[in-house]
Amino acid sequence: MTLHLYSSLERKKREFIPLVPGEARIYVCGVTPYDVTHLGHAFSYVNFDVLRRYLMWKGLKVRYVQNVTDIDDDMIMVSKREGGRPIAQIRDENDAIFRADLDRLNVLRPTVYPFATDHIDAIIETTKRLLALGAAYEVDGDVFFEAQRFSDYGRLNGISIQELAKLDNPESKREEKKRGPLDFLLWQRCAPDEPSWPSPWCDGRPGWSIECTAMSQSHLGDQIDIHGGGSDLIFPHHENEIAQAESATGQSPFCGYWMHNGMLKLDGVKMSKSLGNLVLARNLMERFEPDHLRLYLLSEHYRSDADYREGSIEGLSSRYARLTKVCEEAEEDTEDSALWRVFEEAMDDDLDAPRALDLLDQAAGKVLNGGIGAATLRQALAVLGFAFADARGPARGSLEP
Ligand SMILES: [Zn+2]
Repeated sequence: MTLHLYSSLERKKREFIPLVPGEARIYVCGVTPYDVTHLGHAFSYVNFDVLRRYLMWKGLKVRYVQNVTDIDDDMIMVSKREGGRPIAQIRDENDAIFRADLDRLNVLRPTVYPFATDHIDAIIETTKRLLALGAAYEVDGDVFFEAQRFSDYGRLNGISIQELAKLDNPESKREEKKRGPLDFLLWQRCAPDEPSWPSPWCDGRPGWSIECTAMSQSHLGDQIDIHGGGSDLIFPHHENEIAQAESATGQSPFCGYWMHNGMLKLDGVKMSKSLGNLVLARNLMERFEPDHLRLYLLSEHYRSDADYREGSIEGLSSRYARLTKVCEEAEEDTEDSALWRVFEEAMDDDLDAPRALDLLDQAAGKVLNGGIGAATLRQALAVLGFAFADARGPARGSLEP
């Protein structure tokens, strides 16, 4: 079997065929560093790390871009709350903590790690193009994308514009100025005490979704292979990205495979800052080895809304001990082609890491009882990014600012 990935656009698994044979261009929505990140973020980025490592193991050259949303309502809210503290300072502080967490979890650093504020020119250029094409309109300094003008709007969510308009929409602002309820800001006026940039429409700042379109085009071109992010971004963020990108470039599809990770819950409730039920990867790594936490994060399928509970990580202690013991003690020996085959079958099936780990755990039991296959087992665990199996480390990924 060849690699099949579930794409949210078609709502089914499809064979992964990149635009350019032998290469994969991936864009994953990054964080807004206005506060610390939580276990849900670690779940997402560890799983996309495994996607990247698996594609590399298959021989593909992977270019992985992950952005930083360093200008938006939340960043401004925190800056104001802290007496006008510069946004760049808030970003750098939180981002350093986030990156240190991911380094400890052995997540490869992105090929490119762009900041939205470094792409204001590209954002303005794309907005100009959308206006010139009639896909957007300006009202007194604010520029909106007109959702109704994009005939495929709603396809990613699989529902009509009428149904979408009934959903909670974090992009709903300036209702009184909009032609349609799903129109969203590409450029916006801002208050005098907020950071702003000159533009043809007003001194202002970008909307939300336009930044990802500008950054993916800047670093990956008009069409990409895989776009990743949390399932909470499907509406409206990713729906808007498709509408903007395909309208601006005339190229369709903007993205071949839309991959969305599930939302990690705590005791059955979605983790969120507003509910105050956040579990931090950093705190867990004071109690558990980072690889032990990685083992937990890969033991739930990336698309599942996994439920974290106290004891979830402890429950994997014997498995963790067995796998590390095999890597430490077993003699290197010949490869076990049967183990490779079943490992690859599991991973080819939309990255079924939980099944792959079950198979590797069974194999570890056999190796420890005097069987062969330690070399294969160690290499497969390295594909899943475990440092104890000598997976390549984060610093070996490149990272352009
Ligand atoms: Zn994004």
